[in-house]
Amino acid sequence: MADQNAPFPFVDLQAQYRRLKPSIDARIQAVLDHGQYILGPEVGELEQRLAARVGVRHCISCSSGTDALLLALMAIGVGAGDEVITSPFTFFATGEMIALLGAVPVMVDIEPDTYNIDPALIEAAITPRTRALLPVSLYGQPAEMDPINAIAARHGLPVIEDAAQSFGALYKGRHSCGLSTVGCTSFFPSKPLGCYGDGGACFTDDDALALRMHQLRNHGQEARYRHTAIGINGRLDTLQAAVLLAKLDVFDRELIARAELADAYTGSLLALARRGRLLRLPHLRPGRTSPYAQYTVEVEDRDEVARVLGAAGVPTAVHYPVPMHRQPVFHKATTGASLGQLRLPHAEAAAAQVLSLPLHPYLGRPALQHITRALEHALDAVAPAAR
Ligand SMILES: *Cc1c(COP(=O)(O)O)cnc(C)c1O
Repeated sequence: MADQNAPFPFVDLQAQYRRLKPSIDARIQAVLDHGQYILGPEVGELEQRLAARVGVRHCISCSSGTDALLLALMAIGVGAGDEVITSPFTFFATGEMIALLGAVPVMVDIEPDTYNIDPALIEAAITPRTRALLPVSLYGQPAEMDPINAIAARHGLPVIEDAAQSFGALYKGRHSCGLSTVGCTSFFPSKPLGCYGDGGACFTDDDALALRMHQLRNHGQEARYRHTAIGINGRLDTLQAAVLLAKLDVFDRELIARAELADAYTGSLLALARRGRLLRLPHLRPGRTSPYAQYTVEVEDRDEVARVLGAAGVPTAVHYPVPMHRQPVFHKATTGASLGQLRLPHAEAAAAQVLSLPLHPYLGRPALQHITRALEHALDAVAPAAR
């Protein structure tokens, strides 16, 4: 039996490393032996494999998911005074990179069942200043890309998918990251495909955008020491590419394990949801798969339930407690985005109620059962009368 108070990692990267140690160590050792730490051969090998997997012509690896968004926005030409329509319910980087370029993140509310931007609300937010649409595929489920792409096409706008959590997902048989003008993902350690530091990638079928992102990633260099644009130092380290190559070999197996665990969670929690003790369980729309970057439920008294679970040795996380339009920086008129007064009820409700449970490919059924039982007990402990 598991110790009730055993430390229970939210994402167990050590368990994964123990399984993959020989191949990860060999890949890292190869880099130490050849010594090409910057843009070494592993970087190109990884980009080729990722592009082939996603089914696009170009993968441009980079230093983080945040920089992937920045490179895509820069390559498209987003700048001061522009508007980019995006989701308020996401990690801060999505809106941050828009604002960093002097543009305004225009927030459109989410669909309550998928947590992704509601396509039905996008068109009303388009103005002559709109330069791009930036949907987020949250928790791993791709945003509703067909209608989003159709709206974008009608208005001549590019679409950037923030696929930081959805690498590995399918949308109607096509891969997330390859569903729009540019797809951006993250290899942050705890993401579905993670490295041992920061990393990310941009995907596109557009040759000109690919070339621009490639050059912007490396100081706007067209050729060595010939700079034709203002770029960034945004390269992926060779060592991180090596780690990702080793992990990519088992990624499909891990996706299956993730989906099986998510199904097992839903199977165990369905009764609680039917009795109204959980307000919502993850819901995949038809034609989608998800890597379940997060398995996220909604619950009343979320912070108290999380505290009781934590005391029982079950770590949880909240993705995300504050929607973008409520972030202090976006309250300030100085950002050009006075979003403080905005009312986005679905995003606000989600931020108050979401709770992510531990899910990683090496979690195992006994641990999962321990977590679901602990959740049931926590729900009993918190305001039992109300339930
Ligand atoms: C993780 C994440 C990012 C940022 O990725 P980093 O690699 O941490 O810079 C951006 N958007 C979303 C939705 C994310 O989850």
